[in-house]
Amino acid sequence: MNTTSGTNSPRPTPEGPSSADRKSADHQSTGAAPPAVVAPSKDGALPTTDTSERVAILDWTMPQLTQWLTDRSFPKFRAGQIFRWIYQRRSQSFEQMTDLPKDLRKQLDSAFEIFRSTTAAHQHSADGTEKLLLQLADGGRIECVLLRDGPRRSICVSSQVGCAMGCVFCASGLDGVERNLTRGEILEQMLKLQQLLEPDERLSHIVMMGMGEPLANLPRVLDALEVAKDADLGLGISPRRITISTVGLPPAIDKLAAADAPYHLAISLHAPNDELRNRLVPVNKTTGINAILDAADRYFDKTRRRLTFEYVLLGGLNDSALCARQLVQLLRGRTAMLNVIPYNPVPGLPYETPSPDAVLQFRRTLLDGGINVMFRQRKGDDIQAACGQLRRLREREPQVIGISKQK
Ligand code: SAH
Repeated sequence: MNTTSGTNSPRPTPEGPSSADRKSADHQSTGAAPPAVVAPSKDGALPTTDTSERVAILDWTMPQLTQWLTDRSFPKFRAGQIFRWIYQRRSQSFEQMTDLPKDLRKQLDSAFEIFRSTTAAHQHSADGTEKLLLQLADGGRIECVLLRDGPRRSICVSSQVGCAMGCVFCASGLDGVERNLTRGEILEQMLKLQQLLEPDERLSHIVMMGMGEPLANLPRVLDALEVAKDADLGLGISPRRITISTVGLPPAIDKLAAADAPYHLAISLHAPNDELRNRLVPVNKTTGINAILDAADRYFDKTRRRLTFEYVLLGGLNDSALCARQLVQLLRGRTAMLNVIPYNPVPGLPYETPSPDAVLQFRRTLLDGGINVMFRQRKGDDIQAACGQLRRLREREPQVIGISKQK
């Protein structure tokens, strides 16, 4: 992977950014050329081991690509063509971009890569769910999932390698966080999942619910979602159909509200009181439920988008009638939906799916309390579709184990 180009390549790097440029590029969508390496050096990122000379075109914005083209005397409109080939026409190589001049295709191919990850595993569930384990250029591994539900084609995308939040029942955070994903690595997941669709199918929904905490990597998540919602040049998915799921980081929720991006916000609550939430979601000790709900209310006031609260039901832990009554107190009066999700057991962890009786009782209490609640079905159980599960299973296996496409 990441084969390098010929020595005469018109590479973007010579006039590329200083490290200061790289830092500022993290927070803006336009301006200086983006980093020539995969992993950024801030946010405690590991230094990249990637030695490729070609850079990730998915890290580049329209103004950056336009500049690159004009520097080489190509007309500006080529940038739009290239973006549409990548994001809308599902192109996997510059060679396929047949309405571009051959010389441009050659120069693009020498300078850029479209995909930088390899597919380390590809699993199919009997219910139509497909899961990819991607190996990034620096060896980090992330998961992303395509869910088929009636006409919906939803994708679940990761924002970090690992996770720092430490939710005790979740596989993603068991080894902590390695680094933030780049804008290009977030987009690459979307494109790889899009390629699993039939030509006449379209992605309809995005949930930032894969590995990692999206609000701990907010600038890059927002940059990637800009492309996801761009109907002209990008994937054209309405922000109403894009959900950002968070453990609940109040300052970052405020930043998201200020960013004026009307995405759907989902907050992973999992407990109705601080004592229990501190145990299940350790990061809660520094925030507390009240501060999260206040930030969620401010998000609602700003965006008028109905909030979602997520509640993973863990047998014998947070599925009692008392928990249900406390949840009713907490959520009553809010324009919110409660999503109750049965726990997807993680091998080696001592948590269990609740009994059918407990689920029934829990449901009755919430409905009687007037809470707008949905009890979700698990999807992709047979392929370890809960966050981070597949990565853990594959951790000790050889680097690339091949693609198993069984249609
Ligand atoms: N960090 C973000 C997004 C990633 S996790 C967040 O906390 O929301 C996405 C959702 O999956 C969260 O609600 C998380 O608690 C839940 N989850 C994690 N492991 C799970 C499991 N084994 N079974 C069911 N849900 C799980």
